[in-house]
Amino acid sequence: MKTGYLHRLADLIAPRLCTVCGRRLSPTEQVVCAPCYLHLPRTGFEHHAYDNMMARLFWGVVPVSRVAALFYYEAHSDVSNILYDLKYHDHPEIGVAMGQLVATEFQEAGFFSGIDALVPVPLAKVRQRHRGYNQSRCIAEGISHVTGLPVVEGVVLRTQFVKSQTQMYRWDRLQNVAHAFEARHLPTLKGLHVLLVDDVVTTGATMTACARELQKAEDVSISMLALGFAKS
Ligand SMILES: [Zn+2]
Repeated sequence: MKTGYLHRLADLIAPRLCTVCGRRLSPTEQVVCAPCYLHLPRTGFEHHAYDNMMARLFWGVVPVSRVAALFYYEAHSDVSNILYDLKYHDHPEIGVAMGQLVATEFQEAGFFSGIDALVPVPLAKVRQRHRGYNQSRCIAEGISHVTGLPVVEGVVLRTQFVKSQTQMYRWDRLQNVAHAFEARHLPTLKGLHVLLVDDVVTTGATMTACARELQKAEDVSISMLALGFAKS
């Protein structure tokens, strides 16, 4: 990654710190320092993107092509701290940086071959206004920087403002988001292979609901990418 003069200058004035260990980042590091990055729990799913623990969540539920997350996600872990900062501490740049990291790793595994467009899982308008950005959109932007794939928004909208998922049981969560999305402008997706992008996948309910809507487009294929996968 290029590091310009302005970046180096900004580092002198306000040094960027590793989200995990708090050490100062070098100009080429982003979000997490190299030693910490090496120790984050990788899934390796991108190397068997058609059959892995996350892909199996969708078997018999919704037709999907490739499915992978970069890291395993556990509560109170380094990975959850990074994603929490992205989501709740006004750090959209973490999403872009993590998007670039996941794209660089997955590209080597051929994960993006044949994919035409990146579709970030949308937030409800109310939530996005409150947060100021959609973290999935930030991740998709980072992926786009590396792969050159376009980010397509507006083909699926979140129509319902759902309750926070964290305090709900699995079945409730599935019901909660099942009808939360609505497809738009479907002819623009005709014949395309779309990659759905989200920050964390837990039950797969959100991805499923989103994919079902996108599938209303003619001859569309769907793959899925997340930064974190929570084993439930
Ligand atoms: Zn560190």
